[in-house]
Amino acid sequence: MAVQVIVMGAAGRMGSIIGKLVQEDKDMELVAAVEKEESLSNINLKPNLITSSLDKAASKYKEAVIIDFTYPEVTINNVQVALKYHNKMVIGTTGLNEEQMGFLEKSAAKIPILWAPNMSVGINVLFELMPKIVEMLGELYDVEISEIHHKFKKDAPSGTAVKLAEILARAKGFGKENLRYCRQGIIGERPKNEIGVQSLRGGDVVGDHTIYFFGPGERIEITHRAHSRETFAQGAVRAAKWINDKRPGKLYSMKDVLLA
Ligand code: NAD
Repeated sequence: MAVQVIVMGAAGRMGSIIGKLVQEDKDMELVAAVEKEESLSNINLKPNLITSSLDKAASKYKEAVIIDFTYPEVTINNVQVALKYHNKMVIGTTGLNEEQMGFLEKSAAKIPILWAPNMSVGINVLFELMPKIVEMLGELYDVEISEIHHKFKKDAPSGTAVKLAEILARAKGFGKENLRYCRQGIIGERPKNEIGVQSLRGGDVVGDHTIYFFGPGERIEITHRAHSRETFAQGAVRAAKWINDKRPGKLYSMKDVLLA
Protein backbone atom coordinates (compact mmCIF):
# COMPACT_ATOMS: atom_id res chain seq x y z
CA MET A 1 0.00 0.00 0.00
CA ALA A 2 1.21 3.51 -0.82
CA VAL A 3 2.68 5.52 2.05
CA GLN A 4 0.22 8.28 2.91
CA VAL A 5 1.76 11.70 3.52
CA ILE A 6 0.52 15.01 4.93
CA VAL A 7 2.89 17.88 4.08
CA MET A 8 3.01 20.77 6.56
CA GLY A 9 4.06 24.24 5.40
CA ALA A 10 3.21 23.21 1.83
CA ALA A 11 3.85 26.70 0.38
CA GLY A 12 7.29 26.95 2.00
CA ARG A 13 10.71 26.58 0.37
CA MET A 14 11.00 22.99 1.64
CA GLY A 15 7.32 22.01 1.88
CA SER A 16 6.61 22.91 -1.76
CA ILE A 17 9.42 20.64 -3.06
CA ILE A 18 8.48 17.79 -0.71
CA GLY A 19 4.81 18.01 -1.79
CA LYS A 20 5.82 17.79 -5.44
CA LEU A 21 8.17 14.83 -4.87
CA VAL A 22 5.51 12.93 -2.90
CA GLN A 23 2.88 13.63 -5.58
CA GLU A 24 5.22 12.21 -8.26
CA ASP A 25 6.23 9.12 -6.24
CA LYS A 26 4.26 5.99 -7.24
CA ASP A 27 4.86 4.44 -3.80
CA MET A 28 3.38 7.43 -1.97
CA GLU A 29 0.04 9.18 -1.76
CA LEU A 30 -0.16 12.86 -0.86
CA VAL A 31 -3.36 13.05 1.19
CA ALA A 32 -3.16 16.67 2.42
CA ALA A 33 -1.09 19.83 1.96
CA VAL A 34 -1.39 22.08 5.02
CA GLU A 35 -0.57 25.79 5.20
CA LYS A 36 -1.60 28.77 7.25
CA GLU A 37 -4.75 30.42 5.91
CA GLU A 38 -3.07 33.50 4.37
CA SER A 39 -0.57 31.40 2.35
CA LEU A 40 -3.01 28.79 0.99
CA SER A 41 -3.13 30.48 -2.43
CA ASN A 42 0.67 30.01 -2.79
CA ILE A 43 0.44 26.20 -2.85
CA ASN A 44 1.14 24.60 -6.19
CA LEU A 45 -0.34 21.15 -5.54
CA LYS A 46 -3.68 19.44 -6.32
CA PRO A 47 -6.34 21.92 -5.04
CA ASN A 48 -8.51 19.25 -3.39
CA LEU A 49 -5.63 18.39 -1.00
CA ILE A 50 -5.10 21.91 0.31
CA THR A 51 -6.26 22.79 3.83
CA SER A 52 -5.35 25.04 6.75
CA SER A 53 -6.31 22.41 9.35
CA LEU A 54 -3.78 19.74 10.27
CA ASP A 55 -6.27 18.50 12.87
CA LYS A 56 -8.86 17.70 10.18
CA ALA A 57 -6.29 16.07 7.87
CA ALA A 58 -4.68 13.99 10.64
CA SER A 59 -8.03 12.81 12.06
CA LYS A 60 -9.11 11.68 8.57
CA TYR A 61 -5.75 10.04 7.69
CA LYS A 62 -4.52 8.49 10.94
CA GLU A 63 -2.10 6.21 9.04
CA ALA A 64 -0.38 9.15 7.34
CA VAL A 65 3.19 10.33 7.95
CA ILE A 66 3.28 14.08 8.62
CA ILE A 67 6.35 15.73 7.05
CA ASP A 68 7.01 19.00 8.85
CA PHE A 69 9.49 21.71 7.79
CA THR A 70 8.07 24.81 9.50
CA TYR A 71 8.96 26.80 12.64
CA PRO A 72 9.67 25.48 16.16
CA GLU A 73 6.41 26.60 17.80
CA VAL A 74 4.38 25.33 14.81
CA THR A 75 6.20 21.98 14.94
CA ILE A 76 5.39 21.59 18.65
CA ASN A 77 1.68 22.18 17.92
CA ASN A 78 1.88 19.67 15.07
CA VAL A 79 3.39 17.01 17.35
CA GLN A 80 0.47 17.57 19.73
CA VAL A 81 -1.96 16.88 16.87
CA ALA A 82 0.03 13.79 15.79
CA LEU A 83 -0.08 12.48 19.39
CA LYS A 84 -3.87 12.87 19.37
CA TYR A 85 -4.37 10.74 16.22
CA HIS A 86 -1.20 8.55 16.40
CA ASN A 87 0.28 9.81 13.14
CA LYS A 88 3.97 9.25 12.40
CA MET A 89 6.20 12.29 11.86
CA VAL A 90 9.32 13.29 9.92
CA ILE A 91 10.53 16.67 11.20
CA GLY A 92 13.16 18.88 9.55
CA THR A 93 12.46 22.09 11.48
CA THR A 94 15.55 23.61 13.12
CA GLY A 95 16.05 26.16 15.90
CA LEU A 96 14.16 24.16 18.55
CA ASN A 97 15.25 25.01 22.10
CA GLU A 98 16.13 22.40 24.76
CA GLU A 99 12.59 22.27 26.12
CA GLN A 100 11.14 21.77 22.64
CA MET A 101 13.71 19.04 21.84
CA GLY A 102 12.80 17.40 25.18
CA PHE A 103 9.15 17.39 24.11
CA LEU A 104 10.07 15.67 20.81
CA GLU A 105 12.04 13.04 22.71
CA LYS A 106 9.17 12.39 25.14
CA SER A 107 6.63 12.25 22.30
CA ALA A 108 8.83 9.79 20.36
CA ALA A 109 8.09 7.22 23.08
CA LYS A 110 4.42 7.37 22.05
CA ILE A 111 4.46 7.85 18.25
CA PRO A 112 7.23 7.21 15.67
CA ILE A 113 9.12 10.50 15.15
CA LEU A 114 12.28 11.17 13.14
CA TRP A 115 13.98 14.54 13.55
CA ALA A 116 17.05 15.59 11.59
CA PRO A 117 18.51 19.09 11.27
CA ASN A 118 19.86 18.10 7.85
CA MET A 119 18.39 15.32 5.69
CA SER A 120 21.13 15.24 3.04
CA VAL A 121 23.13 12.03 2.74
CA GLY A 122 26.45 13.95 2.58
CA ILE A 123 26.06 15.81 5.88
CA ASN A 124 24.95 12.66 7.69
CA VAL A 125 28.07 10.87 6.43
CA LEU A 126 30.14 13.80 7.77
CA PHE A 127 28.42 13.46 11.18
CA GLU A 128 29.76 9.89 11.31
CA LEU A 129 33.30 10.79 10.15
CA MET A 130 33.92 13.64 12.63
CA PRO A 131 34.78 11.55 15.74
CA LYS A 132 37.28 9.46 13.75
CA ILE A 133 39.06 12.58 12.46
CA VAL A 134 39.25 14.06 15.98
CA GLU A 135 40.61 10.79 17.33
CA MET A 136 43.33 10.55 14.65
CA LEU A 137 44.40 14.21 14.84
CA GLY A 138 44.69 14.23 18.62
CA GLU A 139 44.29 17.11 21.02
CA LEU A 140 46.70 19.55 19.32
CA TYR A 141 44.19 20.38 16.59
CA ASP A 142 41.74 23.24 17.17
CA VAL A 143 38.26 22.74 15.72
CA GLU A 144 36.12 25.57 14.34
CA ILE A 145 32.91 25.58 12.25
CA SER A 146 31.44 28.10 9.84
CA GLU A 147 28.08 28.03 8.09
CA ILE A 148 26.50 30.16 5.34
CA HIS A 149 22.78 30.35 4.54
CA HIS A 150 20.38 32.46 2.48
CA LYS A 151 19.16 35.77 3.88
CA PHE A 152 15.67 34.47 4.73
CA LYS A 153 16.85 31.86 7.23
CA LYS A 154 15.30 32.60 10.62
CA ASP A 155 17.54 30.71 13.05
CA ALA A 156 21.29 30.88 13.75
CA PRO A 157 23.52 28.99 14.02
CA SER A 158 22.03 26.42 11.65
CA GLY A 159 20.74 23.20 13.21
CA THR A 160 23.41 21.37 11.22
CA ALA A 161 26.20 23.52 12.69
CA VAL A 162 24.85 22.93 16.21
CA LYS A 163 24.77 19.16 15.63
CA LEU A 164 28.30 19.19 14.14
CA ALA A 165 29.52 21.22 17.13
CA GLU A 166 27.90 18.83 19.61
CA ILE A 167 29.38 15.76 17.88
CA LEU A 168 32.86 17.36 17.75
CA ALA A 169 32.65 18.54 21.37
CA ARG A 170 31.74 15.03 22.52
CA ALA A 171 34.62 13.58 20.50
CA LYS A 172 37.06 16.05 22.10
CA GLY A 173 35.69 15.44 25.60
CA PHE A 174 34.21 18.96 25.85
CA GLY A 175 30.77 19.97 27.13
CA LYS A 176 28.14 22.24 25.59
CA GLU A 177 29.62 25.09 27.66
CA ASN A 178 32.74 24.88 25.46
CA LEU A 179 30.85 25.88 22.31
CA ARG A 180 31.45 29.55 21.42
CA TYR A 181 28.70 30.78 19.09
CA CYS A 182 30.26 34.17 18.26
CA ARG A 183 33.29 36.22 19.19
CA GLN A 184 33.58 39.96 19.66
CA GLY A 185 35.78 42.43 21.56
CA ILE A 186 38.93 41.70 23.59
CA ILE A 187 38.41 37.97 23.74
CA GLY A 188 41.99 37.02 24.70
CA GLU A 189 43.80 33.94 23.47
CA ARG A 190 41.67 31.11 22.18
CA PRO A 191 41.14 28.62 25.02
CA LYS A 192 42.28 25.12 24.14
CA ASN A 193 38.94 23.58 25.03
CA GLU A 194 36.75 25.67 22.76
CA ILE A 195 34.89 25.10 19.49
CA GLY A 196 33.84 28.28 17.68
CA VAL A 197 30.78 28.41 15.42
CA GLN A 198 30.27 31.36 13.06
CA SER A 199 27.19 32.14 10.94
CA LEU A 200 27.09 34.12 7.69
CA ARG A 201 23.82 35.12 6.00
CA GLY A 202 23.17 36.40 2.49
CA GLY A 203 21.73 35.92 -0.98
CA ASP A 204 20.29 32.55 -1.93
CA VAL A 205 22.86 30.16 -0.42
CA VAL A 206 21.08 26.84 0.20
CA GLY A 207 23.52 25.75 2.93
CA ASP A 208 27.32 25.54 3.29
CA HIS A 209 29.13 24.07 6.29
CA THR A 210 32.91 24.00 6.80
CA ILE A 211 34.71 22.22 9.61
CA TYR A 212 38.30 23.40 10.23
CA PHE A 213 40.97 21.42 12.03
CA PHE A 214 43.89 23.80 12.76
CA GLY A 215 47.13 22.06 13.67
CA PRO A 216 50.81 22.96 13.90
CA GLY A 217 51.95 23.95 10.40
CA GLU A 218 48.82 22.69 8.62
CA ARG A 219 45.07 22.70 8.55
CA ILE A 220 42.24 20.58 7.15
CA GLU A 221 39.04 22.19 5.88
CA ILE A 222 36.08 19.94 5.10
CA THR A 223 33.20 21.65 3.31
CA HIS A 224 29.75 20.41 2.47
CA ARG A 225 27.73 22.54 0.04
CA ALA A 226 24.07 21.86 -0.65
CA HIS A 227 23.44 22.94 -4.26
CA SER A 228 19.70 22.45 -4.14
CA ARG A 229 16.93 21.94 -1.56
CA GLU A 230 16.03 18.74 -3.44
CA THR A 231 18.78 16.95 -1.54
CA PHE A 232 16.98 17.66 1.80
CA ALA A 233 13.56 16.95 0.27
CA GLN A 234 14.72 13.57 -1.13
CA GLY A 235 16.01 12.72 2.35
CA ALA A 236 12.66 13.63 3.92
CA VAL A 237 10.77 11.44 1.41
CA ARG A 238 13.16 8.53 2.08
CA ALA A 239 12.71 9.04 5.84
CA ALA A 240 8.88 9.03 5.47
CA LYS A 241 8.99 5.70 3.64
CA TRP A 242 11.34 4.30 6.29
CA ILE A 243 9.31 5.40 9.32
CA ASN A 244 5.98 4.22 7.88
CA ASP A 245 6.27 0.75 9.46
CA LYS A 246 8.33 1.69 12.53
CA ARG A 247 7.22 1.58 16.13
CA PRO A 248 7.67 4.40 18.65
CA GLY A 249 10.63 4.16 21.01
CA LYS A 250 13.47 6.60 20.55
CA LEU A 251 13.65 9.83 18.57
CA TYR A 252 14.93 8.48 15.23
CA SER A 253 17.55 10.26 13.08
CA MET A 254 18.75 10.05 9.47
CA LYS A 255 21.47 7.66 10.63
CA ASP A 256 18.74 5.07 11.33
CA VAL A 257 17.47 5.55 7.76
CA LEU A 258 20.86 5.45 6.04
CA LEU A 259 22.05 2.34 7.91
CA ALA A 260 18.77 0.45 7.43
P1 NAD B 1 9.74 28.62 4.84
O1 NAD B 1 9.49 29.84 5.66
O2 NAD B 1 9.96 28.80 3.37
O3 NAD B 1 8.53 27.57 5.03
C1 NAD B 1 7.80 27.38 6.20
C2 NAD B 1 6.33 27.28 5.80
O4 NAD B 1 5.56 26.95 6.96
C3 NAD B 1 5.78 28.63 5.26
O5 NAD B 1 5.16 28.42 4.01
C4 NAD B 1 4.78 29.04 6.33
O6 NAD B 1 3.70 29.80 5.83
C5 NAD B 1 4.34 27.67 6.86
N1 NAD B 1 3.68 27.78 8.16
C6 NAD B 1 3.96 28.62 9.17
N2 NAD B 1 3.09 28.47 10.18
C7 NAD B 1 2.21 27.51 9.77
C8 NAD B 1 1.09 26.91 10.39
N3 NAD B 1 0.66 27.27 11.61
N4 NAD B 1 0.42 25.96 9.68
C9 NAD B 1 0.83 25.58 8.45
N5 NAD B 1 1.90 26.11 7.83
C10 NAD B 1 2.59 27.07 8.49
O7 NAD B 1 10.98 27.90 5.51
P2 NAD B 1 11.93 26.76 4.88
O8 NAD B 1 13.11 27.39 4.26
O9 NAD B 1 11.11 25.79 4.10
O10 NAD B 1 12.46 26.06 6.22
C11 NAD B 1 11.56 25.52 7.17
C12 NAD B 1 12.36 24.85 8.29
O11 NAD B 1 13.08 23.73 7.77
C13 NAD B 1 13.41 25.75 8.94
O12 NAD B 1 13.47 25.46 10.31
C14 NAD B 1 14.70 25.33 8.26
O13 NAD B 1 15.86 25.60 9.01
C15 NAD B 1 14.45 23.86 8.14
N6 NAD B 1 15.26 23.16 7.12
C16 NAD B 1 15.66 21.91 7.44
C17 NAD B 1 16.35 21.14 6.52
C18 NAD B 1 16.72 19.72 6.87
O14 NAD B 1 17.31 19.02 6.04
N7 NAD B 1 16.35 19.25 8.06
C19 NAD B 1 16.65 21.67 5.26
C20 NAD B 1 16.23 22.96 4.96
C21 NAD B 1 15.50 23.69 5.89
